[in-house]
Amino acid sequence: MHCPFCSADDTKVIDSRLVAEGDSVRRRRECQVCQERFTTFETAELVMPKIVKSDGVREPFNEEKLRSGMQRALEKRPVSVEATEAAINHIMHRLRSSGERELPSRMVGEEVMAELRRLDAVAYVRFASVYRDFQDVSEFQKEINRLNSGDA
Ligand SMILES: [Zn+2]
Repeated sequence: MHCPFCSADDTKVIDSRLVAEGDSVRRRRECQVCQERFTTFETAELVMPKIVKSDGVREPFNEEKLRSGMQRALEKRPVSVEATEAAINHIMHRLRSSGERELPSRMVGEEVMAELRRLDAVAYVRFASVYRDFQDVSEFQKEINRLNSGDA
């Protein structure tokens, strides 16, 4: 790390602490040449792809939106907060590891359904019925039959 005052290469970390609940590291550094002190912050860069909605509008990935959608589906269901958070992490990990800079919102929905299907059948059907916007009852019934038959 170059010194921002004199551009010397030789700076030394004199203090290091976690901030923002451990999400970043704050370092106090001292230049070994001019003795000036400065602070750096180090944060892991986790780039989520942009989400492309069906109308073509791009929007930044919104973790809160994902969480609230899943929580709505899981309302009053016997699924722990830990399991829900783990599912959210799985989804984000898979979206990130796609390596794409943009992903269709449909893909997020499919990932959510895959996780909910694993967590709780009722939550899955709730989410799917809203998300897929089932046009008629028979389509919805087909989905439930598929679940019940165990090949879901
Ligand atoms: Zn310096």
